[in-house]
Amino acid sequence: MPKVIIVGGGCFGLSTAYALSLKSEYEVWVFDRQSIPSPDAASTDINKIMRFDYGDDITYMHLMMEALPYWHQYNKERAEQGESPVFHETGVLMMSRHGEYSDFEKKSLRNIRQAGYGHCIEELDGEAIIKRYPQFKTAVHHGFNIAYLNKAGGWCNSAEAVKHMHQKCLQQGVRFVIGGDQGTLSSLYCPNNNKTEGIVTMDGKIHKADKVVLATGSWTPGVVEMENQIIATGQAVIQFKPYGDLRDQFDQNCPVWCADLSKTGFYGFPINADGKMKIGIHNSGYLWPRKHDNVSIPRTQVAFECDTIPLSALREFRRFLANFIPGTSCMDIAYSRLCWYCDSIDGDFLISQHPKYSNLIIAAGDSGHGMKFLPNIGFQVRNVIEDISTDYTRKWAWRNMDVANTKLDGLRQGSAVNRGILLGHDENMRFASPDELTAATAHL
Ligand SMILES: Cc1cc2nc3c(=O)[nH]c(=O)nc-3n(C[C@H](O)[C@H](O)[C@H](O)COP(=O)(O)OP(=O)(O)OC[C@H]3O[C@@H](n4cnc5c(N)ncnc54)[C@H](O)[C@@H]3O)c2cc1C
Repeated sequence: MPKVIIVGGGCFGLSTAYALSLKSEYEVWVFDRQSIPSPDAASTDINKIMRFDYGDDITYMHLMMEALPYWHQYNKERAEQGESPVFHETGVLMMSRHGEYSDFEKKSLRNIRQAGYGHCIEELDGEAIIKRYPQFKTAVHHGFNIAYLNKAGGWCNSAEAVKHMHQKCLQQGVRFVIGGDQGTLSSLYCPNNNKTEGIVTMDGKIHKADKVVLATGSWTPGVVEMENQIIATGQAVIQFKPYGDLRDQFDQNCPVWCADLSKTGFYGFPINADGKMKIGIHNSGYLWPRKHDNVSIPRTQVAFECDTIPLSALREFRRFLANFIPGTSCMDIAYSRLCWYCDSIDGDFLISQHPKYSNLIIAAGDSGHGMKFLPNIGFQVRNVIEDISTDYTRKWAWRNMDVANTKLDGLRQGSAVNRGILLGHDENMRFASPDELTAATAHL
């Protein structure tokens, strides 16, 4: 039986392990440097947006339409086990400004309707937004006065979803080596030139395999030479613990909101069962270049537990929220974090045979929008492993792009590629202090 080693037990790695295990033709092993869900993996969070609104990127729209029934199935499986749902179909409110949809929303609406999902859409003008969602009254008055609700979307509890997939993999006989030196990849095992014959872990052990899949997310460019095709970028998220009116307004019936996302970058979630309200900004992010080769690697709270978010991001959040959800201005930011995207050079995933190392498959380049594909991205990685060509595998094959032509994913078309260097000379690139996260300094 061919043996496949997958390094990385996040969304891409587990999905791949599960897809391979369904064929019963492989011996499948997953290695991860930490227990699953790994505390600093991109996949581990309280919530992520579930949407098939993808502008003109209909590949992802279709992939998400294909993923949705699986998510509903996971909820059923969890209900049978007495566990909370992983997918919350609250709807996603896609807001635009000044009475006209932005291009991204226009294209999404057109493509969703052409795909036969028009019944999921409800369009709202400013008055209708206020009537239905009075919590956005100030936002409407500040120009966010046109929106559509995609009722088929919502959010997933991504950490729980990873746990669920981990369980499914275990039931299928996938084997795991987790945590510490034994679970951490040190290097590829290539005794004969560039032929990958397994991996070497930090404890010095060699693990032989017929194929190796690197599903190490934003750590990937720090692990193997990626010729600038992917880059680790830190993206800021914050959480409030609302009380009083705000708690009622953004309760679990509130939809996920996207505030003209392709232009402002801001999005947010209803308050979860633990009373946490998360808000994020999807933009070109921050870099943490390694000294010896300048490759950006994730800097996370696992190693730097006092890290918060850069001052520049804090200022952006407070400035935006003062007009969008002004009730947050008198609230402390209860938690903040940089979560790391594996940004590809053009915003598309990179799921491909590595051009230099045979038997090495890269399953990365999530570009900040991969979590929703937990149930089905693995089928496409399996296709690459088996050398089966599909529209997806062709789109995500190694692209050899020049850095000068770097692009962001469709939702960040409005953002310039302008990545700050963490803790660089610019004062704005230092981490905000705990005091600066409080309401007292909301107008920094
Ligand atoms: C702030 C933020 C917001 C996001 N919002 C959304 C959203 O709303 N909707 C959406 O669909 N997606 C969203 N995403 C993207 C989504 O989280 C990612 O696409 C997805 O989690 C990528 O999964 P992954 O498996 O590639 O990487 P990860 O989840 O990061 O997993 C990588 C794994 O590799 C392991 N690893 C790394 N190095 C080694 C090593 N040397 N040895 C062994 N193991 C190793 C890590 O421990 C980790 O478990 C968001 C991401 C971020 C950061």
